[in-house]
Amino acid sequence: MKALLSALGYALVNIFETLIRVLPVPCRTGLIKIGNPGKDAPVILTCNYHLTVERMKRALKGMNAYLLIANSRGINVWCAATGGHFTNHDVISVLKTSGIEGLVAHRYVILPQLAATGIESKPVFLKAGWRIVWGPVYAKDIPAFLNSRQGMPDPEVTSKNFSVPGFMRKGLEKSAVMRTVDFGIVQRTEMAVSWAFPFSLIAGLIMLFVWRSGVAFTVVLIWAVSFVIFLFFPLYARLAGDKKKAPGLSRYTVLFDFNRASLGLSAAFILLVAGYGLLTGNFSTDFMLHAGILTLIIVLLLNLDLMGSTPLYKSGLHEDRLLKITIDESRCKGAAFCEDVCPKHCYTIDRESHLASIPRSDDCVQCGACIVQCPFDALFFTSPSGMIIPPETIRRFKLNTLGKRLVDTAGKTAVS
Ligand code: SF4
Ligand code: SF4
Repeated sequence: MKALLSALGYALVNIFETLIRVLPVPCRTGLIKIGNPGKDAPVILTCNYHLTVERMKRALKGMNAYLLIANSRGINVWCAATGGHFTNHDVISVLKTSGIEGLVAHRYVILPQLAATGIESKPVFLKAGWRIVWGPVYAKDIPAFLNSRQGMPDPEVTSKNFSVPGFMRKGLEKSAVMRTVDFGIVQRTEMAVSWAFPFSLIAGLIMLFVWRSGVAFTVVLIWAVSFVIFLFFPLYARLAGDKKKAPGLSRYTVLFDFNRASLGLSAAFILLVAGYGLLTGNFSTDFMLHAGILTLIIVLLLNLDLMGSTPLYKSGLHEDRLLKITIDESRCKGAAFCEDVCPKHCYTIDRESHLASIPRSDDCVQCGACIVQCPFDALFFTSPSGMIIPPETIRRFKLNTLGKRLVDTAGKTAVS
């Protein structure tokens, strides 16, 4: 009975917080004990977005571990770290104030890989004495990650004054699958719901005043368009396609990101509506005019693709989509931090020549994680005009919701 109630509670939390996913939902920061952890237990850190914390607790069920919750202003890990709302300071703060240092005999903390866009290993080690280990992208993979065995521990990551805990002595292996964001059917469904719910609520309210008899039509249309876009997302993104289109052109198409996918989808829905009108005898010029304009607006609005909506496709709003990840081979030492944090599996490391290459650079989503983490500053972005965006800029300035690096993580202020 208890298990059933807990499963029901978990399902309700998931449903409700998916509906309001566009909003931050903060929970308490601090330390949570999972099972019966000892001095050797893994320390796992995540953000204080409530849904993430609930999913982490579920993923860690049956294990003995410490879960640290750091302040990310109630925003999920990737968005918060990429947008400058989850910083080194937040990680150091929870490590120093939660009491974890008195509970374990080691100084290794496992962070979600997607935090690598904003959290830097070096300052956390220098200021707090903790080594960051980048965990898998998804919480569900943490048990497999902790049980993985690679061989001997890397002497590079051995803390000087603390013991190496059991989970690190085994050596941890993160497979390419654990490192990669896949934007699978479950995430796409969640994204469809999280777009459709607030949009349909707001649009339905507006329609009460503008076109009262069209309220139900508007709500149904928004849910239908959201699901079509996100469930068929790989195809839709391919059709929407050319993310490398010229910046000059996108400036004029930028607001609603006109492309063959959005226009084609609008046309398809307008035809469907017309067919429905003809079949049910509701077809009238007035209805079709209202329905047609509304359909076009809804498709284009849902096509906006604000920051974090999807890791696979960036609309014309995101000028950073044009940046190319570039390596200075003379600086590379082959330490593979880039491979460890890249969510699109762009890197290959030649273990003999100790050199990284980027054979899948076309898959890059310009998250900047590899640049932030490279200890030798061997990576940077190059703009289409050949301008170099150096690592210090990527480390200091984070992305705002329109994909511009304007958020200064030092002062938390937008710069112009
Ligand atoms: S690019 Fe940087 S992080 Fe990647 S292998 Fe080379 S030195 Fe290491
Ligand atoms: S190669 Fe691109 S996607 Fe991969 S970590 Fe670097 S910036 Fe992100």
